[in-house]
Amino acid sequence: MKLGIIRCMQTEDYCPGTGDFRAVKEHRGIFADVEEEIEVIGFINCGGCPGKKAVLRARELKKRGADAIAFASCIQKGTPIGYPCPFAKKMREIVGIEVGDSVKVLDYTHD
Ligand code: SF4
Repeated sequence: MKLGIIRCMQTEDYCPGTGDFRAVKEHRGIFADVEEEIEVIGFINCGGCPGKKAVLRARELKKRGADAIAFASCIQKGTPIGYPCPFAKKMREIVGIEVGDSVKVLDYTHD
């Protein structure tokens, strides 16, 4: 799996993505059933509220070879401070349309 991760820009001050990288490395969380090697080809934030730039960022990840794009858990789960992104649903929708069926979109990374 060639993986691009999109994370919450607001959460960068609280978290450098440690849990995401651990989940990838140890095949945990959303990656528990992934048997192939996982290569992170990009780790980028959403571009800031209200998340419109996530489309452009997903486009770049796809262009650079991503066959899967995960939204980090800070977005839909609100980790680590329990504050989910209010724009998560729309962002997920527009990114899904942008990348199409050839790229798998994952809704979180770790528990
Ligand atoms: S749009 Fe959502 S994911 Fe992006 S910075 Fe704002 S709260 Fe975070």
